[in-house]
Order: sequence, then C-alpha cells, then structure tokens
Amino acid sequence: MTQLVYNFAEGNMNMRDLLGGKGANLAEMTGLGLPVPQGFTLTTTACHDYQVNHQLGQELLHQVDQALEQLSEISGKRFEDEHNPLLISVRSGAAISMPGMMDTILNIGLNDKTVAVLAELTDNERFAYDSYRRLLAMFGNVVYGIAEDAFDQVLTDIKTQKNYESDLDLTTEDLKAIVAEFKQIYRDSDKGEFPQKPKEQLLAAIRAVFESWDNQRARIYRRENQISEDLGTAVNVQEMVFGNAGADCGTGVAFTRNPATGENKLFGEYLQNAQGEDVVAGIRTPQSVEVLATEVPQLYDQLQDIAKTLEQHYHDMQDLEFTIEHGKMFLLQARDGKRTPAAAVKIAIDLVNEGLLSKQEAILKVKPESLTALLHPEFDAETMAEHPVLTTGLPASPGAATGQVYFTAATAKQASDEGHRVILVRQDTSPEDIEGMIVSQAIVTSRGGMTSHAAVVARGMGATGVVGASELNVNYAKKQANVGDQLIEEGDWLSVDGTTGNLYLGPIETTPATIKGDLSVLLEWAKKFAKLGVYTNADTPRDFQKALEFDADGIGLTRTEHMFFKPERLLQMRRVILARTAEQRAEPLSHLLEMQQADFYELYKLAGDKEVTIRLLDPPLHEFLPHDMAEIQEVAEQINVSVDYLTERIDSLKEINPMLGHRGDRLAITFPDIYQMQVKAIMTAVLRLSDEGQIVHPHIMIPLTDSQTEMGWVRKLVTDQITEMLADKEITIDYTVGTMMEMPRACVTANQVARESDFFSFGTNDLTQLTFGYSRDDVGSFLPEYIKKGILPADPFQTIDVEGVGELMKMAVNRGRLTKPDLPIGVCGEVGGDPTSINFFEKIGVTYVSCSPFRVPVARLAAAQAHI
Ligand code: PEP
Ligand code: MG
Repeated sequence: MTQLVYNFAEGNMNMRDLLGGKGANLAEMTGLGLPVPQGFTLTTTACHDYQVNHQLGQELLHQVDQALEQLSEISGKRFEDEHNPLLISVRSGAAISMPGMMDTILNIGLNDKTVAVLAELTDNERFAYDSYRRLLAMFGNVVYGIAEDAFDQVLTDIKTQKNYESDLDLTTEDLKAIVAEFKQIYRDSDKGEFPQKPKEQLLAAIRAVFESWDNQRARIYRRENQISEDLGTAVNVQEMVFGNAGADCGTGVAFTRNPATGENKLFGEYLQNAQGEDVVAGIRTPQSVEVLATEVPQLYDQLQDIAKTLEQHYHDMQDLEFTIEHGKMFLLQARDGKRTPAAAVKIAIDLVNEGLLSKQEAILKVKPESLTALLHPEFDAETMAEHPVLTTGLPASPGAATGQVYFTAATAKQASDEGHRVILVRQDTSPEDIEGMIVSQAIVTSRGGMTSHAAVVARGMGATGVVGASELNVNYAKKQANVGDQLIEEGDWLSVDGTTGNLYLGPIETTPATIKGDLSVLLEWAKKFAKLGVYTNADTPRDFQKALEFDADGIGLTRTEHMFFKPERLLQMRRVILARTAEQRAEPLSHLLEMQQADFYELYKLAGDKEVTIRLLDPPLHEFLPHDMAEIQEVAEQINVSVDYLTERIDSLKEINPMLGHRGDRLAITFPDIYQMQVKAIMTAVLRLSDEGQIVHPHIMIPLTDSQTEMGWVRKLVTDQITEMLADKEITIDYTVGTMMEMPRACVTANQVARESDFFSFGTNDLTQLTFGYSRDDVGSFLPEYIKKGILPADPFQTIDVEGVGELMKMAVNRGRLTKPDLPIGVCGEVGGDPTSINFFEKIGVTYVSCSPFRVPVARLAAAQAHI
C-alpha cells in the first residue's frame, strides 16, 4: 500500500518531491519544535493518481480519514463538534514554489451551525461571520469557478452604501447580510447550495487544488520559469489559526533579511486583526512588522528567535508567514525567500562571512541569469536632480526603467508585442496579470505593500517595481491615472526608480551599470572556482571594453564581416564582391587592408596580454549587396559601373540558400586574396604592436570548415601569408590557426580536422541550424509553436540541444582529442552564454565559452556552478 498522506510529524525537508516544498517545510519545522499548527499532506503521487483517474481513490480517502482522526486527537477539535469545531485550510504546494499560482481555501469546516459555535467560543460573532464569508467566497471561486468579482461586488456595494473606508468597518450585521447574499450567489449559479458538510467541503477543496495545477496562470508561470509539467502539486491540510479574531490577533509576512537590499534585519509586514491573504493580496496596506517591537515586544522577540532558528537551520534567508491568535504566535510557513538579484548577491556573501555558507555554497545560491538585472541601467544621479518627483511609493524591486504606461496586462502585452517599452500601472496585481508583468520594464501599483503580489513578482523577475504609491489614483475605465492634477494617460511616458520608489513623468535616460561591491566579490570567487574560461564575442573596441569591465578573459570571436558595414567600408567590400578578377579586387582590398589593420590594432591594444581570436570573413554574400532599384542605382554610381552591369552581376551572385552558399572558408577557396588581405591586416597590426613593445600571439579562426583537406588548404593559405610577412623580420611570432566547428561533417571527422587545427571553437548557431535543418533566419515562424506544444523543451539556438547537437559536440571533442589530447576547444555560438548549456559544456570537456559582453558575468557564475 502506498502512503499517500503524511502527518507533519512524519515528513522532513528532504521529501520535497513527494510532499511539495510547503509540506516538506511544515514537516521540517514541526521537527524543529517551532509553533506550527498541525495537519497533514497529500502527496504529489496522490495528485498524479488524480490527474489520471479524475477522482480521489478509495485508498486516499481512507488515509485522509485516518489523518483527520489523528489531527482531531492532537487538536482536541472535530468537524462539526458543537463545542470545539475543527476548522482547516487546504493549500497547494508543489516541489518548486509557484507563489500565488495555484489555489488555497481557508476556514473549511464552517457552516451555518459551526459559525455560531465559533462565535460563541471566541465571544466574537463578527469574527465568525467574517471567516464564514471568506470561506464562501474562496470556495465559490476556487471550487465552483464563480467569478471573484461577483463576491467583491457585494462587499463594494455595502461599503459604498454605508460610506465605509475599509473592510474593518463592516459590522456583524453587515457580515451576516453578506453571508446571505453570498449564499444567494451560489443558488443563482448553476451549482446550487453551498455544501454544509465539512467533509464534503474538504474533499471538494482537495480536488480543486489538484486541478489548479493545470490552470492557465500556473502553466504560464511554469513555462516562464522552466518548471516541469510533470511535478504535480501536493495538498496541505492544516488546522486554522485565526489572525482575525480580535485586536490581540494579527497576521504577517516576514523575511529574515531585507529581500530588496539584502540588509541583515528582520523585514516584514503586519496587519492587526486580519487573515493572511489580506497581506498578500495588497487589499489593505499593512504596517511594518516593527510595530510589534513597540506594541508586543515579547512577540517580536519570539519572531526574531524563530527567524534566527530558521536561518541557522536552512542556511539561507527565509520568508515566513505568521499568525498571532489571541497573543500566541504561530508559524504557518517558511521557505527560502524570493529576493532581488542585488539582495541575492549580498545575502550569499554575508552568509559566508557569518560562517553559515562556504564560498562554493554561496556561489550556488545565486541564479546566473539573475545577474543580468544587476547589469541593467540605473538613473544617473545628476540627471535625476533636474526631474521633479511625481510621487513616491515603496521601493519594491530596484532598478531604473522608463517606458510607456499601460493599465492592463493585456494592453501592456499588446504594446510590448508592437515594440513599445512598457510600464504596467495598476491599483494592484493578481496572478492573472502575469503575462503583462513579464513584458513590462517596471510594475507600479497604487496599493499594497512590499510583500504584495506585484512586489514579489517584480523581484522574482528582476523587473523594476514600485508599489503602494498611494497618491496615484488609477482609473481603469478612463485609462488614466493622476497624482493631484497631474494626469497620466495610456501611452504616456513614465520613469520608475525601484531603488527609491520615486516616479517621474516623462522619459529619463538611464546609464549603464558597472560591476562593483558585492557583485565583484562574488565574481572573483566564481573565477576562482570555474574551470571553463569565459571570453567575449566582440567586434568593436566598445564592446570589448565593456566585456573587459566585466572581466572577460579575452575575445573568443571577432566576426570580421561586422566591421564592413560602415558606409565607406561597405563601398569597398561591394567593389571586392562585384569584381570579376583578382586584379579588379586588388585596389578595394588595399583600402580594406588599411581599415582592418587599424581595427585589429585597437582590439589587440585593448587586450594587453589577454587573448584575441579573430575569425576570417564569413558573410553570406547577399548581406552586402544592394537589393532594391534605388539602392542599385546609387551603388552603380558610387562604384562607377552601369546599372545593367551591376544588375547582371548581382543576379549572377544570387543564391537560393545563401546560408548554405558561398560563405565562410568557401570564399577563401574561390577568392584567396580576401583571406590573404585579412591575415596581412592581422600581422601588420601584430608587428606594429611588437615595435611598440607589446607581444601579441594572434589566433586566427576559419569558419564553416567541413573537412581536413579543406582546412589544410586554407591553413596553408594563412601560414604562407604569415611566413611571407615574417621572412625578412628578425622576430618570430607565435600564432595559432584553428577552426570553427559548425558543420556536422566536421564534428564526425573531428579526429582528421584536428590534424590541421590548433584549436576548435563550436559555432553552435550554424551547427544547430544544420543539425536540425532549421534555417536560423526563419525559425521565428514555427519554433514558438514547437515550444508551446511541448515538441521542443526550449529554443535550441538559445539552450543547447543535448541529445542531438550536444551529442555531435561530444563526438567532436572526443575525436579531436584523440588526435591532439590538449586541443583547446571553445564554444562561441549564442548558447556560449547560457547557464544550462554551460553546465553541459563543462561535462563534455570544453575549455572555454565566448559570449556577448553582457552575458560574461552570467557565464562566469554558471561556469563556477558547473565546476563546483
Ligand atoms: C555560430 O555559427 O555559432 C557562430 C558563432 O558564427 P555566426 O553566428 O557568425 O555564424
Ligand atoms: Mg557560424
């Protein structure tokens, strides 16, 4: 018999897969002796059974009964007990946290009878009916799918009628009337009466939570966060404790450290006389948890002790939910707290300094991808001084963003699809808004606190966030917001400073971030623990400079064709391509030689003693040719030929599949003088630097190689040119000539290709194109569908396809090293900066990766993680 239900006392934190994160944690905390309300967890296996059978099996029902019996014994309460009714919550909890994405129902066990018992027992009728109306609304929405708005409207109407400011103003009589109206909503729907039997409520709630695994927002969240569809959710059934039973009650959310900055100080929010979802939903703006320190110091101390116990136990910052019921503290949940990338870095380093983590463990705590957010722009302090602050909210998620305002997730998404930079401005956000939030530069709300949905999601995504900007009135109907008489209409520009919480009208320029402080410490450690080198793909001194600021080891790929797109160079390049003979090419090539050697000189100079790999020309020729008639006429004039001649020449160069055509080293076979010119430019720069006292060891890379013979031919072309240039010189220059590995044939014959290559560098863009047979330039029309339909797990141009392309790479590494055991092997395609791919490259014995400058820190951290 499979155990499908575990009491909290039976589990522990290593059982996440089975009990979900929340269940495993509740069990662990029970084991630590923390004040956790007791209960039990239905396993993810039970969820899988439910997904297959669409019903709760007999064995599960039996085990739930047993667990309920035990819970009754522990708590001394029972369903429908006239003196002491058991009330419970039913919550989802997957192995990987998906905050707010699945469903929760509180106060199960209340019905027309027990509500009165609860009122009597607590001597608080208002509280009892408040709890009942919450159950009716949550159950109706989650189990029966009745729109939340239907219930909200009843509340709003009463509040408006009676001129109330908040839910707290509702009287017992109001709440009784609300309960009656809520029950009528059930009757008006096709679902009939609200079920009075607690057991029936419980089972319906369990089914609904299992089903909520498959709701749309949960699926979007999983897709966005690469969470497997197969995990399923556990269900936690737990005795209720009440934060809304009077003035000596309350509820809060706290982080053991500040989740925005990482500061080592208890940080959180507290609402007196309220239930948990009031804090998270941002319905009432809570007070800082520090109010407890002055109002009930012993509870604040207890909370701090709990925080300390949790951190010492989990060795990480924790996010905890607590409830105070008549002066008694209960811990409802604790988990690793979500934090901004800046806080993640600071906390990891502080935990090392506090002796709670080793450096290696600290490195593993920070998501490489999240560093991108730290490298994002900031507002320049001087510029900011000139801009009046429109209003200030809470600094929920740091960063600077400027964009156009949209008031709904849908319009934000649409505007973003149309290419706009979007700022989502709302009263508050809910999980339904997730798609709009993902595309926004910043999220701004007028209500809610630092732990509201908007704040948590913004931090999680590394988007800029300001919440609870209470002077901001958002009017959805008019698609407007205003602060006093300052109006913001849909599409207006707004600038958001997530570090100060300030909002500014209009666009404000941002300045690029630099690596400093904690981040530079973390990256230093990462460099120490990484085995893979991290180089950059850079074609210009500006890009290279940026990469050097990010501590790149050098350049792994300079795409020389990118240097030809400036107008004066394009002209010469066109003359080269359009020439019919080597003689005609000589003159434009001599101009290009001049320009190229200056480019290379600058790159080498910047590099100092770091390595630079320059790839010889790899353009599909069509990229350089004029296309429409106006352009053809202009070019004909520029290069002094007739339009007819030019048209005919362009026609003769046209290719059906330029990506598979006359590009890469095929150009060198047909027009050797182009590669000769480039080698000459490289060596001229090298010799010039040598005269200036800088020793350069050039690495020359040949693109698109298929075979040993082809590589041998091109290699000879290159080395002959170098030998010729060095013939009358006193000095020797060490250089290498290597090949890109981007043709499947080259991978299969890598042992042969290695004979003519001093190094390999995988061009995974072309290798993926050719392995899948997907045109790099055309995948946009079908690849998204493949990913949406689960046919591909990810875009193989961004994350390596381990089974196919990866297998070819593995073969090439192994075969190449049969010939040359020490062969340096890099990866310079797009996946070179992707953490998941980097982990794979480490395993197959790649020597270094090369990626765009802004990916360098990400790749460095990923490389360290791969090696630890
Ligand atoms: C590649 O193919 O992966 C590569 C780096 O070369 P390019 O993208 O320039 O074709
Ligand atoms: Mg390529």
